[in-house]
Amino acid sequence: MTAIYAKMAVIGCGLIGSSIVRAARQAGCVGEIAIAETSAQARSRIVELQLADVVTGDAAEAVRDADLVVFAVPVLSMGAAAAAAAPGFKPGATVTDVGSVKGAVAEALTAACPDGLFIIPGHPIAGTEQSGPDAGFAELFQNRWTILTPDPRTDEPYRAAVARLTDFWTAIGARVEEMDARHHDLVLAITSHLPHLIAYNIVGTAADLEGVAEAEVMKYSAGGFRDFTRIAASDPTMWRDVFLTNKDAVLEVLGRFTEDLQALSRAIRWGEGDKLFELFSRTREIRRGIVAMGQESAEPNFGRDRGKH
Ligand code: NAP
Repeated sequence: MTAIYAKMAVIGCGLIGSSIVRAARQAGCVGEIAIAETSAQARSRIVELQLADVVTGDAAEAVRDADLVVFAVPVLSMGAAAAAAAPGFKPGATVTDVGSVKGAVAEALTAACPDGLFIIPGHPIAGTEQSGPDAGFAELFQNRWTILTPDPRTDEPYRAAVARLTDFWTAIGARVEEMDARHHDLVLAITSHLPHLIAYNIVGTAADLEGVAEAEVMKYSAGGFRDFTRIAASDPTMWRDVFLTNKDAVLEVLGRFTEDLQALSRAIRWGEGDKLFELFSRTREIRRGIVAMGQESAEPNFGRDRGKH
């Protein structure tokens, strides 16, 4: 295919950044690729993997002449990464990101970037619990949603930039939807952030449970607990940043979740089997709906390596 962008710069080449690079190469939808990474060790690995035409520690150098700049660093590093890139931006370039929280990132990018760029925040709802440039793969975004949270502005040049970025994500296999940033943060608080918090908590509780040895937790871990441990193995920096920057939405859904959990504990205490059965039947339908929408297979192990964040 003809390149959608003549040059793409990716700042931060871990799981998501390296997957974008691999997918874009495979699709042939970008010309030149430049990568900026802070760690020298990661840079030499990226060179070994031959992921880019240019690999540098200098973000301003990477973004020079780039039509598309993708920030793929942890959420709380977005502002500093954009400030480091600022002197090199090409006027009229599209600047996007892949951060799991959108309100805070949009603010950080807008504050750090000069005028004359098209800032279009984004979030691919695809990932795994792995990190680093070796963990990425070209198929990660296939049939997954990418949510863009553009400004409400409707002028033609901005909307054309949004359409072009949509074409880019489509070319690397994703389905694209636009959403208001606040709404994104609320939706993801319940579908992704709270489940991670629960996983971190349940694995922590099991590890600290008196009278149950850690070896027993590992040896007898049934499917349910094993799935939680996979989620709880997700990157600590990334998830610390998510909870710190999506505090309001997470606390809102956590409050609601705690109330519902109390109601469940009352139903167990008073032997209200009908209530339990009714809830478990409703939740089973939700699972079937997700499978029917093609976002998960009925196979028990599908998604083991493609956890959605
Ligand atoms: P990752 O594998 O840890 O990669 C992040 C990379 O960015 C690391 O190599 C890190 O280097 C580098 N980095 C950090 N600060 C930098 C800076 N200022 N300039 C250049 N490079 C920098 O993380 P990831 O899973 O790809 O996550 C990246 C972003 O994607 C996060 O914002 C996350 O919220 C979002 N996201 C993740 C998932 C997922 O499932 N993992 C899914 C969707 C979206 P060091 O290791 O040396 O710090």
